[in-house]
Amino acid sequence: MTTRPNGRTTVGKAIMTCADFQERLPELFETKADLSADEHLKTCENCAALVRDLEYIAQQAKLLLPIHDPSPAVWENIKSAIRNDPDTKGGSSNPSVPRPAGR
Ligand SMILES: [Zn+2]
Repeated sequence: MTTRPNGRTTVGKAIMTCADFQERLPELFETKADLSADEHLKTCENCAALVRDLEYIAQQAKLLLPIHDPSPAVWENIKSAIRNDPDTKGGSSNPSVPRPAGR
């Protein structure tokens, strides 16, 4: 009998590998599951560290989430910058891509 290293063996008990766990990670984060109760995290220092990193990143992302709209003055600056750019007159290499009217 040969066992391939990358073959997935599903045994009666749910033994999670690091790959399995990391595959579930986004889902766990989305559902705000209690990661500290996860069996795999209790036994795997690698994934525990990974989760700590991700939680840190998620926190930082939350801090960045309320993005302030640029003030009208910023938009005016952008508009005038575009007008003053000599490259914007014709000859654009951008083909007009038809946008699907989906919502
Ligand atoms: Zn692991």
